[in-house]
Amino acid sequence: AFPAGSSPAGSSSAGALDLSAYRLAAEPYYRPVGDEIAVFEAAWRHRLPVMLKGPTGCGKTRFVEHMAWRLGRPLITVAAHEDMTAADLAGRFLLTPEGTVWHDGPLTQAVRHGAICYLDEIVEARQDTTVVIHPLTDARRMLPLEKRNELVAAHADFHLVISYNPGYQSAVKDLKESTKQRFIAIDFDYPAPALEAEIVMREAGADAALARTLVAIAACSRNLRGHGLDEGASTRMLIHAGRLAAGGVSLEAAVQAGIVLPITDDADMRRALSAAISACF
Ligand code: ADP
Repeated sequence: AFPAGSSPAGSSSAGALDLSAYRLAAEPYYRPVGDEIAVFEAAWRHRLPVMLKGPTGCGKTRFVEHMAWRLGRPLITVAAHEDMTAADLAGRFLLTPEGTVWHDGPLTQAVRHGAICYLDEIVEARQDTTVVIHPLTDARRMLPLEKRNELVAAHADFHLVISYNPGYQSAVKDLKESTKQRFIAIDFDYPAPALEAEIVMREAGADAALARTLVAIAACSRNLRGHGLDEGASTRMLIHAGRLAAGGVSLEAAVQAGIVLPITDDADMRRALSAAISACF
């Protein structure tokens, strides 16, 4: 182990970070669906790491943004991908004309300065990347920067949030059991129809009738999940189609462009989805 807070000679100190860019200036609109705000606040009070589980486009990112605003904390978001290495999260030495300079990665910035760090779709990252978060998720609340020979003690306000889409998981791409068991989990799903229509109205500028129609279309597409579609239309897709339709595009064209074409490349599936959709309104 390294001495906590040590700063090895020959490398620049991490320096002050301007966190203002990571603060949410206005309240992000979030319509609560259940007790997720209370659960998150309780987890935050104890600094228990949180895992948001649910399909894509159902409100996880918006929820974290809302909670960061509510708690008055800056939010640093990282979209995980399969080439992501531990250095992309923790930081690396960079060669500059002045010599070798250490740059904190986004996770290290959040740990040092007390931000909420949101690792979106963490399962996309390789498992050896995921384990860098382990010492942060238990009583140690430490981030070892091996390259820098430094052990960073987390700021009192540091909080770790990850998202996870159980629908996509396969045996090769899943969170390790030892990672999963460190988190408080909050389940997300598409909101109930009346709520989802309210969200579509607000976010797409759609009227009540259009929003209700789009939500009915979503229900049809979600019935095809597992029958050729990996996932049905998300709330995000309904908002996209709603924006087009509210902006003057015909409903049929808006649904094609916002839902049917993005969701599948398969011509037969597109026909089946279009037929199912036209049967439902
Ligand atoms: P995810 O992170 O789950 O993929 P997002 O949070 O980006 O999804 O949600 C997609 C969009 O759906 C958001 O930008 C927002 O417009 C809308 N949305 C979904 N659920 C809600 C909700 N409960 N309250 C407000 N907006 C929501």
